[in-house]
Amino acid sequence: MIDLSKYTKQLSKLFSSSGNILLISHINPDGDAIGSQIALYQYLTSKGKKVSMMTPNYLQEFLKWMEGSDLIHIFIKERTKCRNLIKSADLIVMLDFNQPNRMGEAEELVLGSGARKILIDHHIDPLSFADLTVSESSMCSTAELIHELICSLNGGLFINRPYAEAVYTGIITDTGNFEHGTYTSRTLRIVADLLENGIEKEKILNLIYNNYSAERLRLQGFALNKRMVVLPELKSAYIFLTKDDLNEYKHVKGDTEGFVNFPLSIRGIFFSTLFIEKEGFIKMSFRSKGKFPSNEIASQYFSGGGHLNASGGEYNDTLENTISYFLQVLNDNAWRFENIE
Ligand code: 5GP
Ligand code: MN
Repeated sequence: MIDLSKYTKQLSKLFSSSGNILLISHINPDGDAIGSQIALYQYLTSKGKKVSMMTPNYLQEFLKWMEGSDLIHIFIKERTKCRNLIKSADLIVMLDFNQPNRMGEAEELVLGSGARKILIDHHIDPLSFADLTVSESSMCSTAELIHELICSLNGGLFINRPYAEAVYTGIITDTGNFEHGTYTSRTLRIVADLLENGIEKEKILNLIYNNYSAERLRLQGFALNKRMVVLPELKSAYIFLTKDDLNEYKHVKGDTEGFVNFPLSIRGIFFSTLFIEKEGFIKMSFRSKGKFPSNEIASQYFSGGGHLNASGGEYNDTLENTISYFLQVLNDNAWRFENIE
């Protein structure tokens, strides 16, 4: 049982002494980033606080159904508005990341602002850039951590529909709908509370997982059929998608979510990488099974980071050069695959 009481006194003080609170989550926000943001928004506004929400860039399509998602200001789209929100905030809460560069173009403004700052996150080894760092890497998601903190601040279960849907979304998206081993019995007890309070789980699962275009399914087939490379001797596999591939299948943000997991279903494959060609750089997602530290590969070679089994990074070169550098990295790290199971 994790003792969160060490945080609640300070959190409570910071919330009650602030009149203008800004919540910010990370670049390419996922279900946990948006879920924890909306959940905290619901709680603080229910207590009469003035709260705004911001993300560095656009939300994925499959999160836009969430109540309150339309209240989130997008930095790269509404620069002046977001600058003003940062300037006028007296408290900034940063959610679901552990390095300030995850705030993208908003990083400098947020770090330079005179507002007090709280970081609430579940990634290991957070850098020190907040006045209060609430970091619990044993939590499956920031949404789970937020829920536990809020119940503690509230002196009992806090719940309303958009809040419950947001916490549920954070938990299921960060655990792959309870597929990855990072959730615990405590997580399931939280989900039990959410279900007992009336969340419609089928509706939410359909909105998240069964809400894609036909082209997205065809892109998935294409990626697995034509763009997956399996390297059995290195216990690894990767998928790459070019800009042209994405255009051909009318890609929208979020369409490639989950693709990186598929190669791990191959027997004997412990490390999977997805390369996506972006404007001027390559974005990578890493997934691993067992003890293989995908996050060490991400941070050592690809300016990234994340969790042991799920991480990401990027590389400023062509797709071809990135893949050949990656193969070099894999060969240099072949020793890590010895005795892996
Ligand atoms: P995804 O592959 O789903 O985009 O990200 C998986 C995990 O890796 C997330 O928990 C996210 O925090 C982390 N991650 C993804 N991209 C980056 C990155 O560029 N830098 C860092 N530090 N973490 C990343
Ligand atoms: Mn998360």
